[in-house]
Amino acid sequence: MAKCNISFFIPHVGCPHKCSFCNQNSITGQSDIPHGNDIVNTLNKAIQEINTADRADAEIAFFGGSFTAINREYMIELLSSAQPFIGRGKFGGIRISTRPDCIDNEILCLLKEYNVTSIELGCQSMNDEVLAANERGHTSQDIINASELIKKFGFRLGLQMMIGLYKSTPETDMYTAEEIVKLSPDEARIYPVVIMENTRLGYLYKSGEYIPFSFDCAVKLSAHILSLFENNGITVIKLGLHASEVVKKDCIGGFYHPAFRELCESEIYKNDIIKMLNGFNNVRKAVISVKPKLVSKVTGQKRSNIEYFKNMGIEINIVQNYEQKENLRLIKIE
Ligand code: SF4
Repeated sequence: MAKCNISFFIPHVGCPHKCSFCNQNSITGQSDIPHGNDIVNTLNKAIQEINTADRADAEIAFFGGSFTAINREYMIELLSSAQPFIGRGKFGGIRISTRPDCIDNEILCLLKEYNVTSIELGCQSMNDEVLAANERGHTSQDIINASELIKKFGFRLGLQMMIGLYKSTPETDMYTAEEIVKLSPDEARIYPVVIMENTRLGYLYKSGEYIPFSFDCAVKLSAHILSLFENNGITVIKLGLHASEVVKKDCIGGFYHPAFRELCESEIYKNDIIKMLNGFNNVRKAVISVKPKLVSKVTGQKRSNIEYFKNMGIEINIVQNYEQKENLRLIKIE
């Protein structure tokens, strides 16, 4: 079950510069920054609305900016206001997101003191050329150093990567995913690029300098990376931006889709069926039993997977089975 984290967005506060793709005000739909009393009011309300069992597993999350780079006084104001809400019968801890070059021993000691439990790093790419082209202001070595230090201190580590940045290719993105696996984070977020108005990326896109790869390629690549992470025990807590995070008028290109993760999962099931049918000659019809909750993903949006096989001359019939352990099972082939 998804955790009911309580999230606070701190747009752009603490950022030493502006990355090519980032328009945090548009992504979060919020430009005001929260203060201590906002934190206390929201958490008081949340404590009453969320039951104790769910709270124990949930974190108070500070997202949106570069938390460890914000003005120290303001950071401590936020962390201090959350303290009375952490512990037995309350929330499980605090989660923050930040940049890899804003992590060192001193800040990690401070975060420990204030009951921070999880740290997410925006990596975006492990290719130094892509990092520089997108004005990230840090290198892949910074990501490695910060990840190792965070794990050494015993925090949960989350790494975020992007798909299809300026100067990236499917190969550099795949390399990024493989390097992330080597850092063994507990969690990952995969963000296919969404090009926003009023960003450097938006400008490069409009001028024709930046031509993202195709949507289909982004789905196939993201599906591949999703499988890679899950097969290596990394929980993918997010794939694609949520509809509420994208201000439609500001989105001018890239890979936004309201059900991006589902598209990727359908792609994975399509590949599973291809593997199942491998080795059989002249298949005309196959009956596949599926766990009921997976039927729509296996079928694909607008029956895309069924149509894919139909175009290859294969009729796929899906039947539901509540009892089976595996996701898909081939039960008949003609
Ligand atoms: S560091 Fe994060 S919040 Fe700051 S500009 Fe870059 S992507 Fe945006």
